[in-house]
Amino acid sequence: MITQVHILTTYMCNMSCEHCFVCSSPYSEGTFTPSQITTLLDQTDALGTVQKIYFEGGEPFLFYPVMLNGIRQARDRGYAVGIVTNGYFATSIENARCFLEPFPNLGLSDLSISEDVFHYEIREENAARRAFRAAKEMGLPAKILALEPGASGPEMRGSPREEKKGVVTGGSIMFRGRAAAKLSQYADARDWQEFRTCPYEDLREPSRVHVDAFGNVQICQGICMGNVWKHPLEELVRNYSPENHPICGPLLKGGPAQLARDLEYTPPATVADACHLCYLARKSCREKFPGILEPTQVYCDE
Ligand code: SF4
Repeated sequence: MITQVHILTTYMCNMSCEHCFVCSSPYSEGTFTPSQITTLLDQTDALGTVQKIYFEGGEPFLFYPVMLNGIRQARDRGYAVGIVTNGYFATSIENARCFLEPFPNLGLSDLSISEDVFHYEIREENAARRAFRAAKEMGLPAKILALEPGASGPEMRGSPREEKKGVVTGGSIMFRGRAAAKLSQYADARDWQEFRTCPYEDLREPSRVHVDAFGNVQICQGICMGNVWKHPLEELVRNYSPENHPICGPLLKGGPAQLARDLEYTPPATVADACHLCYLARKSCREKFPGILEPTQVYCDE
């Protein structure tokens, strides 16, 4: 049952992080308009199971009036609302308060702020930390989205370079999108045949989908169940048959390793993780699955 819809307000971002699991950058296209958000919310109303709407990206604060308009629409319809941001706007506490000023009256239920060494190499003080402090002072439900260094441990945090290494080898990165191209080479190499399940998404009964301005309804980034500008969300959800989906079917049967076999993709001998293999296999044959392996903004050509 779909209870959360994540509106990818824009693919555009002020940053181009190496660990981004799509390929957002200042040049990325694909931004919602207020009327498109209205149409999408009409569809979530009709679906009848959605409780929470997230506004994320890319960086949603880049299109501040559009985001605010969307949040007001969602609140007026009774949805809980969350935002995911990198907090770039907090060049000072005063500016952070300006950007956050409307939110105490909008009943936000989650303001997630990405604060990690890939977004901000300066660790002691940065825009995300300022945004978090200002939000807390204003009584907003702010939380930090961090990447945890893994086995390498906190001792890796001696420098940004070492902290990045700890995060990459520690299992916090999902190697899809730009992260597959930029960071997979630094991860531990593993035999691709090991990856016999999808470790993160409930492909059989998804509880959330991401929807972009092109209309793509994504079960996982770059794997679509259809397009809301062509068919209503209720129809897409009703007709979604995980076992018969050309990508989710093989993933459910035998994970990314099965997907690679079914797509007749020959992987490199080793890959970084399950998502890396899944992403490489899908990227190798996008043209065979129009409408399913979308959009370009997820399959980086960098
Ligand atoms: S294995 Fe594939 S479907 Fe599963 S979370 Fe990773 S990229 Fe998504």
